[in-house]
Amino acid sequence: MTETRTKGAIRIRGIVAEFGQRAQGFVTIGEAASGPIQFPLVILNGVEDGPTLCLTSGVHATEYAPIDAVMRIVQSIDPTKLRGALLAVPVVNMRMFDSRTGFVSPLDGLNLNKVAPGRADGSISEILAKVLLDEVIGAAGYHIDLHAGDLGEMLLPFAGYALTGNRELDAEGEALARLYSPKLISLADSSGTIPPFADGICFAATRRGVVSIFAESGGNGTLEEADVRVHVDGVTNVMRYLRMIDGAPAADGPRVAARDRKVVRATRAGLLRLRVQIGDELRAGQEVAEVCNVFGEVVESVRSSGDGIAGLVWAHKVVNTGDPIVRYWIV
Ligand SMILES: [Zn+2]
Repeated sequence: MTETRTKGAIRIRGIVAEFGQRAQGFVTIGEAASGPIQFPLVILNGVEDGPTLCLTSGVHATEYAPIDAVMRIVQSIDPTKLRGALLAVPVVNMRMFDSRTGFVSPLDGLNLNKVAPGRADGSISEILAKVLLDEVIGAAGYHIDLHAGDLGEMLLPFAGYALTGNRELDAEGEALARLYSPKLISLADSSGTIPPFADGICFAATRRGVVSIFAESGGNGTLEEADVRVHVDGVTNVMRYLRMIDGAPAADGPRVAARDRKVVRATRAGLLRLRVQIGDELRAGQEVAEVCNVFGEVVESVRSSGDGIAGLVWAHKVVNTGDPIVRYWIV
């Protein structure tokens, strides 16, 4: 395991955590007409040597279960009992959070998880990606980017890691993903068909030697206890595995590994009557929804194109031609 010396203070911009202490504040990356553009940062500097783990949530800031999980974790960890250090950004994209905007920044219309590694001379999302990777994630040996389905997306929990070809790093990345996810893991190779994808924060972090996983639970703008629990348990398990906190990680049970994923779409338009839920095992040809027109006549029976596990079900109740209905994992 990567060991990071934590004796002495940890300083990121103006936020300084002395040995055995917690510090918090905002990191400024630019300004809007109404004031500074910032993200919150919490540093927990432990009393004994150990790894540095970075947690980021709110890259997509309408994904509330992961945001709440990171908030709870930074409040519950006692730095005087911590080995190593925890760096946490509970809401990366504050302008999305303030305005309850899904998917993209209201400032430049960009998806922060599609502009990594970012650039100093780019637009504000690109600047944010660069500061986050250079100054926060890059200061850690390990990183978890916590996500959920975004607005309108109901999602089966999973954890993913982008393979690097470095056997030591990849063994640790897979171990973290298995420890985090209750069931499904996604180990991305160069084919680019499953996440984490090459333009994302996690992928960029792995390319600078950080063992970085992508972890999803929750979705559709909701904040449900069971979804938060998956994240809190996942982070706790990882911290125990890294020996940052006391306790043994939960047993590493069987995990299903994703190979690919496919989207099933409507070809006709109208009211959608769903026939599937996240986690359902689908068979090729199985009906996933029916579409009826405004007269109440059934105009389409939408069927799965193959076998798989329903990983994402869209919450919309009306579809137009080409709209997604379900995305299934091929395992
Ligand atoms: Zn997300």
